[in-house]
Amino acid sequence: MIVEPDVASNLAAVQDRIDAAARAVDRDPAAVTLVAVGKTKPAEAIRPVLAAGHRVFGENRVQEAEDKWPALKAAFPDARLHLIGPLQTNKVRAAVAVCDVIQSLDRPKLARHLARAFEESGRRLDCFVQINTGEEPQKAGLLPDAADAFLRDCREVYDLPVRGLMCIPPIDEEPALHFALLRAIAERNGLPELSMGMSDDFERAIRLGATHVRVGTAIFGSRPPVIPRP
Ligand SMILES: *Cc1c(COP(=O)(O)O)cnc(C)c1O
Repeated sequence: MIVEPDVASNLAAVQDRIDAAARAVDRDPAAVTLVAVGKTKPAEAIRPVLAAGHRVFGENRVQEAEDKWPALKAAFPDARLHLIGPLQTNKVRAAVAVCDVIQSLDRPKLARHLARAFEESGRRLDCFVQINTGEEPQKAGLLPDAADAFLRDCREVYDLPVRGLMCIPPIDEEPALHFALLRAIAERNGLPELSMGMSDDFERAIRLGATHVRVGTAIFGSRPPVIPRP
């Protein structure tokens, strides 16, 4: 028998933990946005979270967002979708149409395509620049050394609304070092938003200044293992 997780009570429990983590460091809990990550989960698993009043969600694949979100947004027009996974330039138009925030901006070619798609569509989505704080070769994101120059180009060359930074720390390292590095890069570039922290470490991320935490498993339950695509 498959027992469906009670996503609405999981949501409430995660929100309580967010509130407590923020208060513990004298931060306003309302300054931390919970991005509920429904990737791999069917729309029927996401609806109860919307019905409970939650409005901010994340998906990591454009195709999956296109499959699930037009109908969900028709039912809940004020829902907001963050793209948190790698974005190929041939998917930029589709991403700009279905998403509301891009958290995975990480290279000049993508910046150029986003700028063009914003102009064509009249939609200007807030962007986060993803930093590969662990300098992992297989992982998306800009190397920390390249961040300042790229952020300057996003402003001066591409005129993109970059609001903050995002990172995914290496799984086998203490995430706090990566959260602190992300924060330092954001501060010296005058960026107010920090997307960091997932199911296993969002409280630590909040202590280190996260304004957005991306939580999947703790709300929706575990996902099937990732099968590498050829
Ligand atoms: C899947 C995913 C998450 C959520 O991870 P959980 O450990 O399930 O909370 C957060 N951020 C990104 C970029 C993801 O791909």
